[in-house]
Amino acid sequence: MRPALFAVLIAAALPAQAADLKALQCGNVFDSKSAKLIGPQTIIVEKNTIKSLSPGTVAVDGAQVVDLSQMTCMPGFIDMHVHMGQQSSPQSYSEGFRLDDIDFAFRAVGYADKTLQAGFTSVRDLGGEISLHLRDAINQGTVKGPRIYAAGKSIATTGGHADPTNGLNSELSHLVGPPGPTEGVINSIDDARQAVRQRYKDGSDVIKITATGGVLSYAKSGDAPQFTVEEVRAIVDTAKDYGYTVAAHAHGKEGMKRAILGGITSVEHGTYMDDEIFKLMKERGTWYVPTITAGKFVAEKAKIDGYYPEIVRPKAARIGSQIQSTFANAYKAGVKIAFGTDMGVGPHGDNASEFLYMTEAGMPSNIALQTATYNAAQILAPNELGQLQAGFKADLVAVAGNPLTDIGLTRKIAFVMKDGVVYKELAQ
Ligand SMILES: [Zn+2]
Repeated sequence: MRPALFAVLIAAALPAQAADLKALQCGNVFDSKSAKLIGPQTIIVEKNTIKSLSPGTVAVDGAQVVDLSQMTCMPGFIDMHVHMGQQSSPQSYSEGFRLDDIDFAFRAVGYADKTLQAGFTSVRDLGGEISLHLRDAINQGTVKGPRIYAAGKSIATTGGHADPTNGLNSELSHLVGPPGPTEGVINSIDDARQAVRQRYKDGSDVIKITATGGVLSYAKSGDAPQFTVEEVRAIVDTAKDYGYTVAAHAHGKEGMKRAILGGITSVEHGTYMDDEIFKLMKERGTWYVPTITAGKFVAEKAKIDGYYPEIVRPKAARIGSQIQSTFANAYKAGVKIAFGTDMGVGPHGDNASEFLYMTEAGMPSNIALQTATYNAAQILAPNELGQLQAGFKADLVAVAGNPLTDIGLTRKIAFVMKDGVVYKELAQ
């Protein structure tokens, strides 16, 4: 018997094979590369991979049919900035003293499920040690959630946005001692290299630095630069040794400029960007991940007495309200934009709000969808994610109606597939 024929007979004899082959009959499909709808398609999924796309409704022998004929199918959404291990609240500042990591980890299981159910099949987690482990648990099928690309501990300088000992009283500070590269705090070029190598040892997928102050850290300045350009360069160069990209949290212009000149991959938040920064980013191909959702969230909460510590409140009010207009200017200037929300600041599962804020600021719906699919994948895995094409991972979401004319539909995801497995079925 010829081997090929033998294989066919085996396939026919095993009913389990049928479930490995699915025919998704989509009423319409969003092509993320062209940012256009391309009409009805039958998408054949074999195990975790897209095998083919054929126009119209095509019958395929042995394939389980998934009727999405009333739906628009899109690549699974990608959020380039989340923190799966946390959820900010007025209690956040004291919980760190009372709870163990395992408490936060149990919460994270719920956040991961909400994120996936909202149609976000991949996320980049930019800071937090829990996500390294959550990623593994999801990949092993222990819990349900998006595919996670995790930074692990963010890298900061002393007193910087990601110094884990910010806000400790002097007695505790003295007991804990000054954090170093192992804890993600650097103060020299050598430290910078060590911190990146430690992240490799920890199992990180990407490097995150906090190039300027931040809103929610217990520190006065939200925008002061916090690295020298030489330190950034040392981080970026070492990161390249391990195939890492580098994401830089930044609000103030000077810190942002140093990060871009140092060679980072993406600017996160980017609050005080201006024409000079836009020009620099375009020259260097630097991405912008806006996180308007987080800006809106903190600006709103800053109005409530006692929600944030007094040192945080003015930063939240001033910086938070600025991000949406910065995004509008960056888009007009032609900066490359990838979708990100900073969920963990705002509520996990509400990620699609960012689409509404983006379109509200002047970005067309199809381009907003492209930022969360094709564009985001350019940073993470351009040949695997973000497109409904043969050979790509079978990550697909569907909505009832046309998301190009009603972007609000992205908040009503009706069907979710990740890696060829259906996590949300159409309601009957
Ligand atoms: Zn963040």
